Amino acid sequence: MPSPEVRRRLQQQLEELLARCEEEPAGAVEHYYASGRGYYPPSEAGAERDHFGVCITTVDGATFAAGDAELEFPLQSLSKVFTYALALADHGRQRVAQHVGVEPSGEAFNSIRFDERQNRPYNPMVNAGALATSALVAGHDHEEKLARILDTLRAFAGRDDLAVDPAVFDAELATDDHNRATAYLMRSLGMFDGAVESVLSLYLMQCSVTVTCRDLALMGATLASGYTNPATGERVLPQRRVRDVLSVMHTCGMYNYAGQWAVEIGVPAKSGVSGGIIAAIPGKMGIGVYSPGLDVYGNSVRGIQVFEDLSERLGLHVFATEEEDTMLAPARAASEALP
Ligand code: GLN
Repeated sequence: MPSPEVRRRLQQQLEELLARCEEEPAGAVEHYYASGRGYYPPSEAGAERDHFGVCITTVDGATFAAGDAELEFPLQSLSKVFTYALALADHGRQRVAQHVGVEPSGEAFNSIRFDERQNRPYNPMVNAGALATSALVAGHDHEEKLARILDTLRAFAGRDDLAVDPAVFDAELATDDHNRATAYLMRSLGMFDGAVESVLSLYLMQCSVTVTCRDLALMGATLASGYTNPATGERVLPQRRVRDVLSVMHTCGMYNYAGQWAVEIGVPAKSGVSGGIIAAIPGKMGIGVYSPGLDVYGNSVRGIQVFEDLSERLGLHVFATEEEDTMLAPARAASEALP
């Protein structure tokens, strides 16, 4: 555990960071997303324009939160990380690889272009890939599969009451012709068999689970500590394939911005259209950020700003040397005591 003095300084740093990022960069927000309504322009945004929260949980369970860290929002694409983890735990790497690859697609998250040579979606972090991992989740029937996905999310978040928001789910299902079409196309290509509507519903159910930044930080910390939840002490998944999950987050988690993210921020992360970003810094911490203003890629604008700032100040880039970190951020005394 960081000492009280380090904790105090980190808390202060986080609040200062929030204040720095609060100023919205002119023109950077392209749109907002709401279930059922789809994308809408910044001129139509209401209170969501100001929603902004950040939370960090270290692998030994210390938590630092600032802003709207308790505000609930749908997981959306952030859920893809956990369903991939579950599919890997259920079937192992080889079987999963028959259905979904690990290559960045360079395409938008809802692209219907597939890896034609292998006849599978490029990776589990785009919609087609998440439909494939949803279809892979073990269970006798739809109900059992859904229960296993929800139990997994709950174990990562250390919260038994994590649940699907039925209004979000209904709105997504009613307006989701694009993913429905993607799923039918995938089945016609032999990428999975079985009931398309059930797979689509499993996918949209996981997207509609609501969380807070605080939950995201703990879920990230659980990924960062080899699937052991630092708050509950539970090993949440039996099979140690966490490095596969982190690697795919690192290369594919930020849609077609993933390459630039890997260079500039350099941490495994995943974003979703509701404006959340989750990151896992192996052996160190989980980070959750929420701010619904999105850029052209569908990533949270302020979320990216927060990570640019945090990565530099805390020296988080996975490939930075100690020397480089010190050069880039000479005053990172507070983080030095972190695990
Ligand atoms: N439910 C959304 C979709 O499938 C989630 C996508 C996202 O967060 N990028 O289109």
